[in-house]
Amino acid sequence: MSSKSDHRLLVIDDDTDICDLLQEIGQSCGYETITTTKITEFISTYSKFKPTIIILDLSIADRDGIEILRFLSNEACRSPIVMLSGYDEKVRATAFRLGQSYGLEMITHLQKPIDIAAIKSLLLKGKKEILSPTAERLSKAISDYEMILHYQPKIDIKTSDVIGVEALVRWKPASYPIMFPDIFISLAEHTGLIKQLTFWVVKEAFKQWLNWKEKGYLIKISINLSPVMLNDLLLPDDLQTLVLQYKVDPTYICFEVTEAGVMSRPQLAMDILTRLRLKGFSLSIDDFGTGYSSLTELHRMPFSELKIDRSFTLNVFKEQESWTIIRSIIELGHNLGLKVTAEGIETREMWTKLKTSGCDNAQGYFICIPMAATDYEKWHDSYNPANY
Ligand code: C2E
Ligand code: CA
Ligand code: CA
Repeated sequence: MSSKSDHRLLVIDDDTDICDLLQEIGQSCGYETITTTKITEFISTYSKFKPTIIILDLSIADRDGIEILRFLSNEACRSPIVMLSGYDEKVRATAFRLGQSYGLEMITHLQKPIDIAAIKSLLLKGKKEILSPTAERLSKAISDYEMILHYQPKIDIKTSDVIGVEALVRWKPASYPIMFPDIFISLAEHTGLIKQLTFWVVKEAFKQWLNWKEKGYLIKISINLSPVMLNDLLLPDDLQTLVLQYKVDPTYICFEVTEAGVMSRPQLAMDILTRLRLKGFSLSIDDFGTGYSSLTELHRMPFSELKIDRSFTLNVFKEQESWTIIRSIIELGHNLGLKVTAEGIETREMWTKLKTSGCDNAQGYFICIPMAATDYEKWHDSYNPANY
């Protein structure tokens, strides 16, 4: 299946008349549209077609749409999902919340018979503003406070204690679905907006750190730094100014930089990273295993943590090679005196396997999805390490 369009709608509904109608609406809004009445067909189409939006009926013949939500969650689906159903508001709202708890981007739930105008307007808005953001729109979003931070906990794999959170940026335009960084970080990098965005993220995370401290939570926060930021020799001083301004203890702040980002200009990166260390910040090498690090360079860099790229964790039961790589990275990290974190722990099986690997820390949907600050507090308060 070769997809030409940037806008792809996948519909599942067991009523063929509704499929035909949605096919027509989708096409009229400029979406390449595929409809199906069967769950098996939906599953096989999903990965090939890579829909940018999904419309799903809550009841498919004798089965139910919850199965599909579970499937999409396992696939780490990021496409916005519109739920349709003949059930009443209460049932739809419950299923909708279940989808959200699976980490899915549920945008709305609509009652059947379908409201054509409502669906058209969703698809058109999605196409125009959500799926193809422009630099102007992104710049305005940063200054208009449309960005938010979600926090994902990281835990000690041996004791299960929480050791910190990673701040992950999202873009939430008013009354539209959340957009994830893969849609806008590279746009920000190519247009020079990354500096504005990074400073927004840093200030927001610093404010949150202080707010949590005042509420009695002393939490380490990790912040992602784009490789582009490692071209700016003023960065360490600018960050230190913010530390003073926001009354943050820099030993509670870790900057994550990708392996590829550091190795593209190692000397410049080393200058900046060393000064960040001298100012008290911790440093982590992110997405490790995907770049081509020179071990000599890596050894000289002032990192305290290494994060194994989640592609290895996600494949740990699929490819023997991934397990071999994970164990080699852990050994390498420990030999270099670094703490090693595995990301992308999605299931108890992965967690149990990683526990046997000697890895230090773990992060992933199995432990918790990234959440807004207030949700994080609730999670933190009810968290029981004994359950892991
Ligand atoms: P990353 O630094 O590797 O962040 C971890 C990503 O993995 C996050 O995606 C997180 O939601 C996702 N994740 C967490 N647990 C699991 C799991 O169990 N399974 C799977 N499949 N995924 C999991 P997210 O938030 O979409 O971020 C994607 C990337 O965008 C990040 O990758 C990071 O490179 C970048 N990013 C995020 N926030 C910022 C930021 O503030 N600044 C910059 N420069 N980049 C950012
Ligand atoms: Ca990261
Ligand atoms: Ca990573």
